[in-house]
Amino acid sequence: MDYVSLIRDIPNFPKEGIIFKDITPLLANGPALAAAVDDMAAPFKDKNIDLVVGIESRGFIFGPGVARELGCGFAPVRKAGKLPYHTESLTYDLEYGTDTLEIHVDAVVADHRILIVDDLLATGGTAAAAGELIAKIGGIVSGFSFVIELDFLEGREKLGSIPISTLIHY
Ligand code: 5GP
Repeated sequence: MDYVSLIRDIPNFPKEGIIFKDITPLLANGPALAAAVDDMAAPFKDKNIDLVVGIESRGFIFGPGVARELGCGFAPVRKAGKLPYHTESLTYDLEYGTDTLEIHVDAVVADHRILIVDDLLATGGTAAAAGELIAKIGGIVSGFSFVIELDFLEGREKLGSIPISTLIHY
């Protein structure tokens, strides 16, 4: 599948100087969306994944499809203040300022194997924070699956030796 032709570059979004990778053309294409979900799940099919965790907000688009492919459930990691039940939270550094992610305290069963899903790996701060949150509540982070990786930002350096799958590299 030619995913690259379905990713649109948006200059200066959300800020001056950033070229945003817009995935909505890929989402709008039925065969491409189905292939992307299949390809994101494929490397983890024999890895005994118990739960997929998706990161707000575009991880929510791909995560449940990947979970369905793997025959497991899904749990959300969200921005602060969005989850209704008791949460574990983690504040991490952005290029300018900080951000906070949360997960329900009962989102994972102790020692269950978790696959983290998001649309894009940039600096790795978001995915690393999600991984730390899962570890805090007793899960074992067993993989990361992304549509896009911005190789030049070296985000995978923040994710240690855990297996990472990406469909498109820039
Ligand atoms: P990181 O924490 O790795 O620097 O940033 C990754 C997070 O920011 C992901 O949750 C991703 O959705 C979002 N993100 C950053 N840049 C882009 C982009 O160019 N396109 C899209 N679709 N998401 C981005």
